[in-house]
Amino acid sequence: MIGTGQSGAQIAEELYQSGRKVYLSIGSAGRVPRRYRGKDINDWLTRMGMFDTNVEALKSPAEKFHPHPQISGKNRGESLNLHQFARDGVVWLGHVRDARAGRLIIARDLKETLAKVDQFESNALKMLDDYVARTGLGAATETISQLRDGYAQEVIPELDLKGSGISTVLWATGYSFDFSLVKLPVVDADGYPIQKRGVTEHEGLYFLGMPWLHSRRSGILFGVGDDAAHLAAHIAARDRERSAVVA
Ligand SMILES: Cc1cc2nc3c(=O)[nH]c(=O)nc-3n(C[C@H](O)[C@H](O)[C@H](O)COP(=O)(O)OP(=O)(O)OC[C@H]3O[C@@H](n4cnc5c(N)ncnc54)[C@H](O)[C@@H]3O)c2cc1C
Repeated sequence: MIGTGQSGAQIAEELYQSGRKVYLSIGSAGRVPRRYRGKDINDWLTRMGMFDTNVEALKSPAEKFHPHPQISGKNRGESLNLHQFARDGVVWLGHVRDARAGRLIIARDLKETLAKVDQFESNALKMLDDYVARTGLGAATETISQLRDGYAQEVIPELDLKGSGISTVLWATGYSFDFSLVKLPVVDADGYPIQKRGVTEHEGLYFLGMPWLHSRRSGILFGVGDDAAHLAAHIAARDRERSAVVA
């Protein structure tokens, strides 16, 4: 399995829990506990206004493509912890750099990547604790157990697929956009549409359902409806203006 965003981590967990041997190439997606201090993490993030963070607040355009932290919706919502995967027998790999003659060439960045995943959780919990302290909410304190099993894993620079018994390689490394069928200068250097909350400079051309179109929630079901309502209102206003001109 290559990639540990939400999809990769969820699939890897199900594969090893079903008894399969899993080698997992770890990416930079962070980790948060699914529940903390008595609430679902999404509940906390909503209260803190995190999902309303506007795209203009991002430090760089590339931040739009950062993966969501690892959590799972299984069993009404669970945490995913790669250290637990290691404890349960999953073999970790750094970033896959190349494949030659049946061998994967792997970066020796496993521990550095893991440190970033762990740091993400520390930062998120601190932010949440600060929020609770600032708002005076009476949420009982909680200590999240700090597993460290992954750091004990060997750094593997090359892997012989056949020799390791690997018969399937699953890529869960995300999507890129392809708007080549739109024959207008409408995408930026990242291939991302140039628009404001879905409205482009080209009359009648709109985008919807993309990560950070308007806010953090634009790319999930939680936010696509609001963006759609905004576009519908824009189109209706445009039509009203047109009818007024005709009248
Ligand atoms: C793997 C994955 C997991 C996700 N998990 C979650 C989650 O757990 N919670 C959550 O809130 N959100 C999740 N999302 C995000 C959520 O799926 C999107 O926010 C939502 O689907 C966006 O709605 P949409 O209608 O804009 O696009 P979509 O639901 O993607 O619909 C786009 C439609 O357009 C069609 N289409 C594409 N190109 C063309 C074309 N050229 N001609 C005609 N039709 C075309 C596609 O076939 C598709 O039917 C996930 C997304 C992915 C990819």
